[in-house]
Amino acid sequence: MRKPFIAGNWKMNTDSRGAVKLAESIVRDCGDTTDSKVDVAVCPPFVYLQAVAGALSSSPVALGSQDVYFEQKGAFTGEISAAMLKDVGCTYALCGHSERRHVIGEADELINKKVHAAVSGGLLPILCVGELIEERKTNKTAEVVTRQMKKGLAGISEAKMPAITIAYEPVWAIGTGLTATPQQAQEVHALIRKLLAGMFSEKLAEEIRIQYGGSVKPDNAAELMNQQDVDGLLVGGASLKADDFVTIIKASV
Ligand code: PEP
Repeated sequence: MRKPFIAGNWKMNTDSRGAVKLAESIVRDCGDTTDSKVDVAVCPPFVYLQAVAGALSSSPVALGSQDVYFEQKGAFTGEISAAMLKDVGCTYALCGHSERRHVIGEADELINKKVHAAVSGGLLPILCVGELIEERKTNKTAEVVTRQMKKGLAGISEAKMPAITIAYEPVWAIGTGLTATPQQAQEVHALIRKLLAGMFSEKLAEEIRIQYGGSVKPDNAAELMNQQDVDGLLVGGASLKADDFVTIIKASV
């Protein structure tokens, strides 16, 4: 049995007070839901990580970063290393979020280096994959997701894989209000699990959690989570409202 894993990606939102208040409300409203039934993480902007870590301390809600750089230290202006993220209390790191891929222009090779750096630095990467609307319309979803999986996980050993979560996020569903139907999500999640079985082993594929992301809301969370290969959710907009995020968490157990 894979334990559900719900993560909130706050993107470039909140301010220092708002970030702490949001984290405090999530911790309070989750109550004991998170204790053993579901893993929960929030990914605030880098500058608020430390403040949010304080608000999450002694709670089961974990801290994640929205990105990580692959070098350990040095002349990389503006970048943040895995060691720095560990140092401020991060457990998880998003790698290859669609906005990093398609707004900032990150390629699979760079994302792969970030996945390696996160694992070596003791973080648990969430590798995001997903197709653009043109790719879905031209039946290229499987090809794109296969390429992103193979390139994103290149050189990662089976022994290291349990540290990694995959997030399937169709780009056309992110921040658009368009959610993949549960069947569309299940179809790609099953493909991802099959890819993992081929790249590693059936046993490993059964262990790895695959989150769905793309306009997840309180009213569609349960149906998405009911799909056999949907093990969690990566939530953007709805994670900025404690009520909505906690409703999603509770709908997932
Ligand atoms: C995301 O940021 O990963 C995301 C899925 O955003 P939203 O839930 O707003 O579509």
